[in-house]
Amino acid sequence: MRAITFHISVPKWFLCKGLGRFRKSVYWGRVSTLRLRDIPEQPLPGDDWVRVRPLLGGVCGSDVEMILLGNPPDSFAKAFVIEPVVLGHENVAVVTERGPAARDVPEGMRVNVDPVIACSARGLAPCPSCRAGQFCACHNQAQGQEGLGFSVGHSGAVGGSWADSFVAHTSQLVRVPDGLTDAQAVLVDPISASVHAVLRRPPTDEDQDVLVLGCGLVGLGIIVFLRAMGFKGRIFATARYRFQQTLALHLGADECWDRRDLKQKDYFDRLAAMYGLRAVRGKYGKKILLGGVDLVYDALGNRRSVEDSLRLVRPQGTVVIVGMGHPRWVDWDPVPYKQLTVMGSHGRGIEAWKGGHRHTYEIVHDLMAAGHFPADRLLTHIFPLEDYRTALRILTHKGRHGAVHAAFRVSG
Ligand SMILES: [Zn+2]
Ligand SMILES: [Zn+2]
Repeated sequence: MRAITFHISVPKWFLCKGLGRFRKSVYWGRVSTLRLRDIPEQPLPGDDWVRVRPLLGGVCGSDVEMILLGNPPDSFAKAFVIEPVVLGHENVAVVTERGPAARDVPEGMRVNVDPVIACSARGLAPCPSCRAGQFCACHNQAQGQEGLGFSVGHSGAVGGSWADSFVAHTSQLVRVPDGLTDAQAVLVDPISASVHAVLRRPPTDEDQDVLVLGCGLVGLGIIVFLRAMGFKGRIFATARYRFQQTLALHLGADECWDRRDLKQKDYFDRLAAMYGLRAVRGKYGKKILLGGVDLVYDALGNRRSVEDSLRLVRPQGTVVIVGMGHPRWVDWDPVPYKQLTVMGSHGRGIEAWKGGHRHTYEIVHDLMAAGHFPADRLLTHIFPLEDYRTALRILTHKGRHGAVHAAFRVSG
């Protein structure tokens, strides 16, 4: 079957990093280890596993980061990746083969596969996180069956959605309602990252003003979900490009500053003026605000966005870090000084929702069916697998191409 695979060695890492400074295409060209190959299908790891055929495989920001070697080899996230990997964890797929203990899964059922391989997929008794439905925080992601990896798209043993098939445990399957299109369904995983982050720390009555840093799909998803759940306070946002700014305002932000706006005045000054405050200037020019925004969702998670979040949130405010931008050398001083709460969020799970418990995917399915998260505005590009190099060129120049989110059409 066809599969986009990735396997970086230490010498290749240095070579690509060196040459990539001059030409980004080095990261997906001949020198890189990214290839569309013909590989054998993965065997089902157990009786209660199924094989699925992806219809669409989405391109997560973290996939692009991995290909651009954004996370250093010694990073936390890298420790769990078992290379060579078949890329792609965002998916909408169809069940094509069932193990002997998975016969009650209807063949042909359209599913979103939750990529995380947690306790039940490993045949282990549930850990405390899995008991609470927080599979992304599973304690046993490195235990049990050897070599499975922690997630679809980060392991050769289960494969990924940028391929003609991959395997999944029955506990990972969430049925896609018939009313949703494939284009909507492939957005469910990245939008779940937004929903999960907001549900980890929803605005309280004290949180009047929320700031969202970054208007890629996850940032935009946070704005949509805040409004969908009835948040009446103000939402400010920052975006890199003008088209993202337009979308953010359309989807419910009150103010959104793009890079061009910020040339004249940075957002510390803008927020300071709004609250009648004066931005404090640090010794080397970095600014600090001592009032203002109550709650920040940092959908970028890089060094600059994390530092800015901590410096501009109000004293005793909250910062939720959602993006995985591998920040290093962050000045964490504001955390004790301003007595901040800093939280992290990642992935999806079982959420407390409307008096019951639902998988994040099911919440997003319902909201999509009700008209939220417009796929025609959010899934801007679909490529055949063969065009992965074009896809990466466009996704690393989003501004030029008006790209919000992209997916590969694998089948269907
Ligand atoms: Zn992702
Ligand atoms: Zn677990």
